[in-house]
Amino acid sequence: MKSILIQSGHVVDPANQLDGEADVLVQEGKITKVGKGLKVKADQTINAKDKIVTPGLVDIHVHLREPGFEYKETIATGTLAAVAGGVTSVACMPNTNPPIDDQAIVYFIKSKAEKEGHCHVFPIGCISKRREGTEMAELGELKRAGAVGLSDDGAPIMNAELMRRVMEYAKMLDLVVIDHCEDSNLSNNGVMNEGVASTLLGLRGIPAASETVMVARNIVLAEMTGARFHVAHLSTAGSVELVRQVKKKGLKITAETAPHYWALSDKSIKNYNSNFKMNPPLRSDEDVAAIRKGIKEGVIDCIATDHAPHASTEKQCEFDEAAFGIVGLETLFPLTYSHLVEPGIISLSRAIEMLTVAPSKIVGIDKGTLSEGVVADVAIFDIQNEQKVDVSKFKSRGKNSPFNGWNLKGFAATTIVGGEIKYQRED
Ligand SMILES: [Zn+2]
Ligand SMILES: [Zn+2]
Repeated sequence: MKSILIQSGHVVDPANQLDGEADVLVQEGKITKVGKGLKVKADQTINAKDKIVTPGLVDIHVHLREPGFEYKETIATGTLAAVAGGVTSVACMPNTNPPIDDQAIVYFIKSKAEKEGHCHVFPIGCISKRREGTEMAELGELKRAGAVGLSDDGAPIMNAELMRRVMEYAKMLDLVVIDHCEDSNLSNNGVMNEGVASTLLGLRGIPAASETVMVARNIVLAEMTGARFHVAHLSTAGSVELVRQVKKKGLKITAETAPHYWALSDKSIKNYNSNFKMNPPLRSDEDVAAIRKGIKEGVIDCIATDHAPHASTEKQCEFDEAAFGIVGLETLFPLTYSHLVEPGIISLSRAIEMLTVAPSKIVGIDKGTLSEGVVADVAIFDIQNEQKVDVSKFKSRGKNSPFNGWNLKGFAATTIVGGEIKYQRED
């Protein structure tokens, strides 16, 4: 395997408190040295001057769609989109067909990712059998096969008694429970956030309470059972406040949000463009302000994309009928850099922490650092030059992004996975 020397970049590795110019040496697929002015010979040298060099990003909320929905995305195309965004590890959600509710599917995804994938893939197992929300899946079996967390994402667990038992088992198994927090009765087939914007557009609303009440219920159950509970795609001011309060009590509760919840609001929905339709929906300006504050204050632990590719036919229809979800892997860091770091909401180091070590800890994987001896997963980002988002160039099969045409900084220049260059931007 070729050795690689990444020279003169601004290295940001929060796990090792590194934030300054340094070289990074990769040998035999591992990080072997990080330091200033390394005097070594390598098979390949990458000049990273004026760029930032970080641990490969870790996205713990990705829909790879395989098996079952290969027309939307595959493990091959989804992981290619990941490396094009500087992401080197993804945790994939189990709402596939068949769903990841037994060990055979976990093995299938792992072996497929091994053969055709471009980055590391960590499956998340179902909470309930067939994702029906009634009967508990074989949680121990899922854990033994290698699932890193439990979720029925795409759907909530409406049955509180089931959630209680799942949390009890998950605690014994030391697995995190990741809930898509939504009360589907309150959502009542809504298609966007309930508020002034939905009234103006004449679309059915999903109240913020639909998420917030479920976050509250899950917090009560996590407190009762002692389970590790993680809030997926947190989007409301009320949820931020609940998580803030429980953190003061020292409970093992964590939360993620996604770039669209700080970069857009329900006012962004124009001309009934279904690329602005996702679940949870884009919220009010007050919610957006609370999300930014929650990020700034450390209430929100990590950033994930909820990358949800769909075929164009599922999006090019009436807003009411269109599928929920947007792609996110290829705009993850540009939206974080341009909309959180540049405006001074958080430091570059904190942003990288929220995209590397913090999510790795939540799902218990040994990723997200440039520590000497670890598998060499490295991302190099260009934060100097603005570039236009162009969905036609996306590696993802899904082109459903509301950010098409936006000018952003922070696109990935080079991505290294396991010591091999898996992505190189064409200039
Ligand atoms: Zn979800
Ligand atoms: Zn999701």
